[in-house]
Formats: sequence, structure tokens, C-alpha cells
Amino acid sequence: MADTELAAAIKTALAAVEIPGGGDLASYAGLSEIIVTPGAVAFAIAVAPGMEAAFGPAREAAIAATQKVAGTRKVMVSLTSGKPPAGPSFSHGKPVPPGKTSVPGIKHIIAIGSGKGGVGKSTTAVNIALALQAEGLRVGILDADLYGPSVPKLLALEGQPAVREDGIFSPHDAFGLKAMSIGSMLVKDQAVVWRGPMATSALRQLLRETDWGTLDILVIDLPPGTGDIHISLFQQAVIDGVIIVSTPQDLALIDAKKAIDMLRRLGVPLLGLVENMSHFIAPDTGKRYDIFGSGGAERAAADLGMPFLGAIPLVMSIREGSDAGRPPVAELPDGPEAQAFRAIARRILANTPRLKA
Ligand code: ADP
Repeated sequence: MADTELAAAIKTALAAVEIPGGGDLASYAGLSEIIVTPGAVAFAIAVAPGMEAAFGPAREAAIAATQKVAGTRKVMVSLTSGKPPAGPSFSHGKPVPPGKTSVPGIKHIIAIGSGKGGVGKSTTAVNIALALQAEGLRVGILDADLYGPSVPKLLALEGQPAVREDGIFSPHDAFGLKAMSIGSMLVKDQAVVWRGPMATSALRQLLRETDWGTLDILVIDLPPGTGDIHISLFQQAVIDGVIIVSTPQDLALIDAKKAIDMLRRLGVPLLGLVENMSHFIAPDTGKRYDIFGSGGAERAAADLGMPFLGAIPLVMSIREGSDAGRPPVAELPDGPEAQAFRAIARRILANTPRLKA
């Protein structure tokens, strides 16, 4: 069955689910779009604050009805409540959960995503985390990029994280950041084929069974694109927002647009777009070359109705420092590369002041 047919069949099945106050779920205005991916089906039911418990049985019935139609796909149904905060970073006026995460000790979570791999998402995630720390916040980073975990290299993390007697991970400490990476759990250079449930439970453990201490912000480096991992992560933790990294080429932006579209449909707040490898600075002359033209990502951000957070130049020092485990923001905090990341971090905090609270 095609994805759209499956979504329609599920909608039909939801007509048999009664909701509090009368009526059925299929015709209820708070039912989100039904997202179908190769491994999962996900949708949300928005309810008025205080109505979560009353909607519990309807949610259970919705899961059961959906599972009958969805076959082996994992069914994820969340109840959301709360008023959407005002501002451009919140999409489509859909209800988003209140701004507190349910992971103990962590006040806020932001995630860094991209439409495709190789655009510098992890490099940006690490340096934004360090830049947020430079603004006086307690910051951690969770590398959830199962398919290409690069945070161990970027932060020179050695070995596996320690495990306490009670089975809880003690995260690495890297340049003051609490850091956990799925890559630290894997055998080096060994390809791993993650099956959906395995990936989801591995990430759940990394997020929930780590002693993060007290963090103002946890930065999650997402896998590229969008898929089951993203959906399950967004369902198990309250994410304050996602930042999308893109290179200026059209192709990367097309992928980024797809990712943005899916995040919107999932009701995940978008904090903005970062353009990486924006322009080239010649190491010998310091001259700037706009290889891909200029302003593409900024225009794309405006078209997409999301804030443009800033541009990072394509410079050798970022590649060299990153590959050597010496991120520019920690290594040379006053250098031009670090300043580019720090300006982005300041913009994020200015646009979303509650991240500082
Ligand atoms: P992704 O997470 O999107 O797959 P990475 O952050 O791993 O991408 O970056 C891919 C490669 O590009 C790395 O070798 C990294 O050092 C390099 N890179 C990323 N951003 C820049 C930049 N602004 N200038 C130069 N090299 C960069």
C-alpha cells in the first residue's frame, strides 16, 4: 500500500475511535496529519490543557485501531497540549508541548538537523554547543547520528563513557561540555546496520540513562534527513526547537526543505537555518569568494518563513581543527571562525530567550 493510501486507511479506522465529549477522532480538529515512514506511523492528538488524562483511552484505542492497519510498522501516537508560544519559530499555530523537557536535569533541548549528510551538521552542532557555553550556559551534546557519528572525532572523545554501578552512563567531559555519542558505543570502523527498534532504544538509553547533571541546554546532533529516529526522538522528549544546517547549493536546500516540511508536519518548532560552507576565504590572501552566489540560504529561510541564523565560511582551519578534535570555538574563541558560530548562538538565544531561563 502506498504511504498516502495507508494514511487514508488509518484515518478511516480512526473514525471508530470515540473522543471525550462525543464525536470521533477522524473528524476531530486536533488530529494532526498522519505521517507514514517505512518503519513507522506517527500522529499527534492536540488536546486542551488538563484534558490529557481524559484522552488517554482514546489514544489507546487509536493505537490499537492504527496498528491493525499499519501491520509491522511501529505506531506512535502522542497527546500534545499547551498553547503555541508566539513567534516565527513555531509552526502552523499547531499546539506544541510546554517548554520544559522531561529528561531529568535538562532544562532545554535543541536539535541540529540537515536534509542530507556532509553539509557540516555535526561540525555546526559541536561549535554551537561550545558557543552557547561561551554565553555562560551549562551545555551538553548528544550525538544521535547513528549513521555517521562524528562527535567523538570532533571533540577527541577517548574510549567508551564510564558506566556507574547503577548502570547509568557518566558522559565524557570535552572542553566543558557533557558529551555522549552513539559512536563511542560502536566498534571502530565497523559498519553497523541499525534496525529501527534497536536504534530507538539505543538513543533512548543515551538520552535518559546518562547522568547529565544539570544542563541549561542539551544539543542533539540528529541523523541527516528525517525518519523514524527523528519521529521517535521528538515523541520521547520535549524538543525546544530544531536548527537546520544547509550548504548554499540548491540541491542541499531542496533536501533541507523536505526535512523542514516534515518537521513542520510533526509540529516541531523550527529555530532557524544556518548556512554552512557559505563562502570561501582564501587562506593566503584572506579574499572572500562567493562560490555558490550569495544570499541563497537567507532567501530560502525567508521563503520558508523561518529565521536565518547566520553563515559559516568554508575555511581550511575549520576542517583541520575539526578533524583534529580541536573545534574552533574552543581552540581560538576570538578567531573569525569562532565568531561566526558565536554570532549564531547569540542569535538563537536572542530569538528564543526562554532558552536562557
Ligand atoms: P555532517 O555532520 O553534515 O555529515 P560534518 O560536520 O561531519 O558533516 O562535516 C563534513 C566535513 O566537512 C568534515 O570533514 C568537516 O571538517 C568539514 N567541514 C564542515 N564545515 C566546514 C567549514 N565550514 N569549512 C571547512 N570544512 C568544513
